[in-house]
Amino acid sequence: MHALGPKITYVMMIKTGFPRCLVFVGAAAVLTACGSLAAAPEPHTGSRHGAPMPPASLTARLDDPPSVSRSPSGREPGQRPPSSTGPEGDGYGGGAGGAGDGRVQGTPPSGDPSASAPAAGPPGPAPAGADDAYRRWGLDRPLARPPAPPGAKPALGRSSAQQWGLPPTVRRVPTDQRVVFVTIDDGIEKDPRFVEQARELGLPFTGFLTDNVIGTHYDYFDQLRRLGNPMENHTLTHPSLAGMAYDDQVREICGQRDNLWKNFGQQPRLFRPPYGEYDDATLRAAAFCGVRTVVLWRAEMETHGLAYRSGDHLLPGDIVLAHFRGPEQLEGQSMTEWIAALVRSIQAQGFTIGRLEDYV
Ligand SMILES: [Zn+2]
Repeated sequence: MHALGPKITYVMMIKTGFPRCLVFVGAAAVLTACGSLAAAPEPHTGSRHGAPMPPASLTARLDDPPSVSRSPSGREPGQRPPSSTGPEGDGYGGGAGGAGDGRVQGTPPSGDPSASAPAAGPPGPAPAGADDAYRRWGLDRPLARPPAPPGAKPALGRSSAQQWGLPPTVRRVPTDQRVVFVTIDDGIEKDPRFVEQARELGLPFTGFLTDNVIGTHYDYFDQLRRLGNPMENHTLTHPSLAGMAYDDQVREICGQRDNLWKNFGQQPRLFRPPYGEYDDATLRAAAFCGVRTVVLWRAEMETHGLAYRSGDHLLPGDIVLAHFRGPEQLEGQSMTEWIAALVRSIQAQGFTIGRLEDYV
């Protein structure tokens, strides 16, 4: 596609009688503009470290709405497909990459630095709850404060992909602490009582937000973010990314990165591919969009309880998937009842909940 640009320009200029020197200058300029799109995300050069910004030519394209709807057949955001195509891990997931580590928090991902982003910045410390609120939310004990996070984030190991500077994938954080990490995806349900619950319990979690189910309601998620719960990237339209064209994956990931920046004044550093499905192009696109770590999960809160990818109980460092869901998706349960059940399951297994961003 891009290769046609210079050729057409060249022919047009010949036909319109441009002097030969201008023709070559024009063709070279078009070649440069097209080349930047293809070359920037190349993982083998290592030149992208600390420079996740898309080139201007791509930034302009990201302003366009996605041209193709790739929603998988009939699946709603957050609803798992029969099987995931992402690589299976031994629990911890992939290795350590370097992409994005040098990124400056608070720098706009693209466009005008004085853009309309709120002066919000990082969410601050992990939330602390009220002393006796647990009874109100159906717990038999308070949610124990998480242990102090490690001084240095644990290494996630290395795999061949990460050696090329691609972000690591993680299902389980390497730690011996009796701590697990709750992640809540998509954003379909926007229950005001969940804000109260999260505040009163001091519930740490990470949101992975999808633009097309949030619509104009980013303010709801900003309330949760301001409690100390980071809001991270879960694409614009929740497609299955595996097998999608690289440019379309970039549009999905960078586009939602820009939305989160515009609404929260904060760049997402973590990314979760919808359905946990991804391929090498996803990792390259994620790196290009400034993603530090690709977050999967080892346990999932289903309607009636926890399900595990292996075994029948939680392990230290497990990443737990839940969703912003309400009575329509939960057979009549409210989101707060469902989250209380999740917290009870975690407590019953002798764990408390930490904040993922303190570890990865
Ligand atoms: Zn999802």
